[in-house]
Amino acid sequence: MQCRFAPSPTGFLHIGHAFSAWFTEKQAFAGNGTFLLRIEDIDQTRCRPEFTTALYEDLHWLGLSWPLPVRCQSEHFADYRAALNRLDAMGLLYKCFCTRRDIQEEIERSPSAPHGPEGHLYPGTCKHLTHTETEERAAAGEPYAIRLDMEKACAIAGNLRWHDRAKGWQDARPRLLGDVVLARKDTPASYHLCVTWDDALQEINLVTRGEDLFYATHLHRLLQALLNLPVPDYHHHPLLVDSEGKRFAKRNKGVTLRDLRGKGLSPERLRHELIDSNGRPDLQKLFLPT
Ligand code: GLU
Repeated sequence: MQCRFAPSPTGFLHIGHAFSAWFTEKQAFAGNGTFLLRIEDIDQTRCRPEFTTALYEDLHWLGLSWPLPVRCQSEHFADYRAALNRLDAMGLLYKCFCTRRDIQEEIERSPSAPHGPEGHLYPGTCKHLTHTETEERAAAGEPYAIRLDMEKACAIAGNLRWHDRAKGWQDARPRLLGDVVLARKDTPASYHLCVTWDDALQEINLVTRGEDLFYATHLHRLLQALLNLPVPDYHHHPLLVDSEGKRFAKRNKGVTLRDLRGKGLSPERLRHELIDSNGRPDLQKLFLPT
């Protein structure tokens, strides 16, 4: 299997990342395949080069290695722009000038506004602008995002399925995500577009990642159909949680890999703890000096 670990350098890696990276390596090696690293640094407002440098150090410390060159998404905006242009040529995109506040107010005005698993869906305000109005506002320099017209896209793609190794076959339900943003003024391509594009480009045939991205896969499957890309297998793994059941995040203090390294923890011990603890490592135990 060709698998990838694809962190975003928006903070230091924590033990949840270690779990995910080792999980990915295990899946790749089980099938005699390759473990790839990809840096998902498209959001230039949140990603920082020092976090990229740190993540290389941390992953090497975990004992991971990968073929070079590593694909860094920020070096490939032209690829994502070309993919976006293809969707645009199919008449599937529209410009959206709404601010977060506009969207919130519109939702408050219409209590029956559609809701998805991750909150309210975009209420479609800008889909109804005339072509002239849209072009005038864009020409006047008003910032906009580019959204996918979900109804049109689903009508073209028809019924789709994808397979998750943990949960089995899934009927793709991208409508759950509504008219998603595929590009913004400050970020010329979205996570969804770039990850789908790169997984195909890098011939990833098993995508491993946390369960928090399970719903995103419905959309990725739709993008594959629209852009005529191959469909990988998926394995969404449970998120690593602490002994109280709370998930780890970059904001948690004290669980970054560099903190643990600084405290003298060995990667072998971390691996043992993460792998033998059924995804619920006992932090107390982990932080006791060996
Ligand atoms: N870059 C994403 C993240 O750090 C992961 C993307 C993926 O595995 O699909 O959350």
